[in-house]
Amino acid sequence: MAAIHLIEDDEPIRAALQTALVGRGHVVETSANGLDALARVVAQPPEVIVLDLGLPDVDGADLLGMIRAVSGVPVIIATARDDELEIVRLLNAGADDYLVKPFSADQLEARLRAVLRRSGAPSRPSKAVVGGIELDIAARTATLDGAELELTRKEFDLLVYLAENLGTVVSRSDILAEVWRQPFGGNDKTIDVHVSWLRKKLGETAAKPHYLHTVRGVGMRLVDPHQ
Ligand code: CA
Repeated sequence: MAAIHLIEDDEPIRAALQTALVGRGHVVETSANGLDALARVVAQPPEVIVLDLGLPDVDGADLLGMIRAVSGVPVIIATARDDELEIVRLLNAGADDYLVKPFSADQLEARLRAVLRRSGAPSRPSKAVVGGIELDIAARTATLDGAELELTRKEFDLLVYLAENLGTVVSRSDILAEVWRQPFGGNDKTIDVHVSWLRKKLGETAAKPHYLHTVRGVGMRLVDPHQ
């Protein structure tokens, strides 16, 4: 599972790839032009960018340079031309990998995995169990004591992040960076609101926590209450 930003002006291709990637458990944002993409990549940094070189407003190679000026996020180039010199030039200009159109969702998935492996992003296990909580990370479903938990996207992401750091206190800034993808801070109250909703769904309160323990002034940790 990865946060992917897909930059593609061709609507049918964009929609088909988005559907295929979401079906594989990824979180996918899309842009139809270069300048829109640049603004959104800065505002909400993805883990990997898929960049179509033929865009209506900006030359793809120029856009790659602009992205590289503000971000180290891995970029996979999608090009319609199997032009070796051009591809080598783009790899030298900071692209991490490339695909020649037309390509299948399976091919893209393989490149995504390779790029993420190289960029050192830890590959996530597909399931996590913490006491009575079971998280199916690929399917994005959760149960508590066998009953389905209805979680919002952020509540689910927060729970997964806490489960990945089970027993360890994670700071509010880590949560903002990892779950809300705001590495430079943001509205702290956002976390409080989501945590209080999550607590309610887990059947606990801040005063009587089972799973979610707040460490005042530091952050919070998830614990297995059955241990
Ligand atoms: Ca195009």
